[in-house]
Amino acid sequence: MEIQGSLFDNIDETENGNNMRQARQPEAAPSGEQARIVELREALNRHNHNYYVLNRPTISDQEFDRLMRELQDLEAAHPEMADPLSPTQRVGSDLSQGFEQVAHERPMMSLGNSYSIEEVQDFLRRAKDGLGGEPVEIVGEMKYDGTSISLTYERGRLLRAVTRGDGVRGDDVTANVITIRSIPLELPKDADYPARFEVRGEILLPWASFERLNKERAYNEEPLFANPRNAAAGTLKMQNSAEVARRGLDARFYFLLGDNLPYSTHTEAMKAVASWGFKTAHTEVLESIDAVSTFIERWDKDRKSLPVATDGLVFKLNSLRQWLNLGATAKSPRWAIAYKFAPERECTKLKWVSYEVGRTGVITPVANLEPVLLSGTVVKRASLHNEDIIRQLDIHDGDMVYVEKGGEIIPKIVGVDIKQREAHAQPLQFVTHCPVCGTPLQRVEGEAAWVCPNKWGCKPQITGRIEHFVGRHAMNIDGIGEEVAVQLHDSGLVSNIADLYDLTVDKLVSLDRFQLKSAQRIMRGIEQSRQVPFERVIFALSIQFVGETTAKVLARNVHDIDTLMAMNVDQLAAIPEIGPKIAQSIVEHFSVKSNRDIVERLRWAGLQMALSEQELASRTTKLEGKKIVISGVFQHHSREEYKAMIEHNGGKNVSSISKATSFILAGDNMGPAKLEKAQKLGIEIINEDQFLEMLQ
Ligand code: AMP
Ligand code: ZN
Repeated sequence: MEIQGSLFDNIDETENGNNMRQARQPEAAPSGEQARIVELREALNRHNHNYYVLNRPTISDQEFDRLMRELQDLEAAHPEMADPLSPTQRVGSDLSQGFEQVAHERPMMSLGNSYSIEEVQDFLRRAKDGLGGEPVEIVGEMKYDGTSISLTYERGRLLRAVTRGDGVRGDDVTANVITIRSIPLELPKDADYPARFEVRGEILLPWASFERLNKERAYNEEPLFANPRNAAAGTLKMQNSAEVARRGLDARFYFLLGDNLPYSTHTEAMKAVASWGFKTAHTEVLESIDAVSTFIERWDKDRKSLPVATDGLVFKLNSLRQWLNLGATAKSPRWAIAYKFAPERECTKLKWVSYEVGRTGVITPVANLEPVLLSGTVVKRASLHNEDIIRQLDIHDGDMVYVEKGGEIIPKIVGVDIKQREAHAQPLQFVTHCPVCGTPLQRVEGEAAWVCPNKWGCKPQITGRIEHFVGRHAMNIDGIGEEVAVQLHDSGLVSNIADLYDLTVDKLVSLDRFQLKSAQRIMRGIEQSRQVPFERVIFALSIQFVGETTAKVLARNVHDIDTLMAMNVDQLAAIPEIGPKIAQSIVEHFSVKSNRDIVERLRWAGLQMALSEQELASRTTKLEGKKIVISGVFQHHSREEYKAMIEHNGGKNVSSISKATSFILAGDNMGPAKLEKAQKLGIEIINEDQFLEMLQ
């Protein structure tokens, strides 16, 4: 990085003529409406910044919406003014995009780690030595716990957003980053920014959004994100930018890179970045090593009240010249170091261990603790996972145990304070019998879990299967949560999933405290479940190891329930993606007479026990054995529809181009990197119309 020279040294008037993200300028002089579009875009960008960066909106939400709608209408009337960076594009599109890999102009490195003030001192000593004894100025910063991003701007417009990837190449996630409201897409006209620059920072999911997202996922029976970092990284890689927009990502920036930048210190550069409308990392100049110590102590406490997750601090030299002089090792710069906070840990008494029985009979041990305060929440229970973990930790009855909450939502026990152990304490004994039905537990070979084998008589397994059956991704019957499932079971009304179809409003309202309204809602859900497609019926049956994806594969390959029930292990295992373990489990499931009876009763009740005629009719083998890559934007069908068509006709969707690719189905604006690769490998490119003709 060069730091002398003028801010505008680098402007090249011809450079961006073919830049895809550049706005198409109106040919003639702007009309009144066109001028209004420009004005509205500027105003909305300003209000976005006031709202999302400064937290100081100057107009009401309604007024904002009104301006947005006016702009949307005008843009619809003036397609020649279309601009992918217009504020109207912030809401995201339902078009999904594969990710293009892009090389970083400068490698994205990680940081060396330190865990104590002594290690920070060592780092400073090494830096000074490297600079021949020159004095150094240190800045301290928050280390945000999200996923890193590199944004490149040209003439004040976002050119692209790329993830760290392997440090050399990353994924182009521009379409998703555009939905993040606190990131400026166009910098204010009067701002003094370099013609081309890169800012790096962290994409974050704030605690509040993270908790809301996990609540929703719990409700939809989707796996929870362990921490905001995973949630941010996962969200940034989603194919549906409208969903990304909805999740509420945020960002903080901490590096500015570019040629001939007119700044001599990091703090100066960050001040400039903030003035262009970016949210920057909290940065302080630290005058002495004592100031570094105080900074660490203060932020180890204060970070807990920040709205976003942090996992430490970063110390950087302030002088950009010194950055250049010191350079980097193969992995990390010599002018910066991360300081990691110890995860918060408390010692508390293990009162007793309870055992929970899941839908599949797996027994989960749960530690019940003397309540302790950890990261601002009271912790009373912690998962012990399984017997092996209990053995490894060597937990004894009544031990004082260490509990940690390392950014994960479920606290875990990480150790025992043996010094505080009572003289005659015994090692914790795992239960030998099901805590609910008393059946001796079995341990599946090669697995850590103990299982209650009493599938058909053990209450939490029965009610768990009912809850699974009515779940969103299965039959989607509203109004039956855990409590109602237990009530239905205890009253004798429902002892298996087929009994649900014998329910009536009268039977339901005869239950204790049951409202007519809730009963009607449940009956409506049951009625509608008769239309739920076959693949979800398979999933709803609670066959061990048959999840949503496996159920889809089965439905697509087997077509109806009678065929499925008649297949043996070898036949099932011959289906792609179905392994011997799943095959075995399916055969076992249908070898139980009561399971076959349930299927008969469900069929009698009118559930979909085969693929629909329509689905079957649209199936061919025309694309058998073909590996197809989809790229670009389409006119006649959505990407998802094309993907389904490929599968229905026997083809396979693959995401990246290789020698094995049969052809590329390309719409408009196919990514340049993909195009180049396809041409290099000589792979055929087929457009929408040709593709549809192929399937005729
Ligand atoms: P690690 O991945 O633990 O090696 O830590 C290095 C990463 O911390 C960088 O790649 C950044 O993504 C991230 N990071 C978070 N906050 C900062 C910050 N203020 N300065 C530099 N890097 C940061
Ligand atoms: Zn049991």
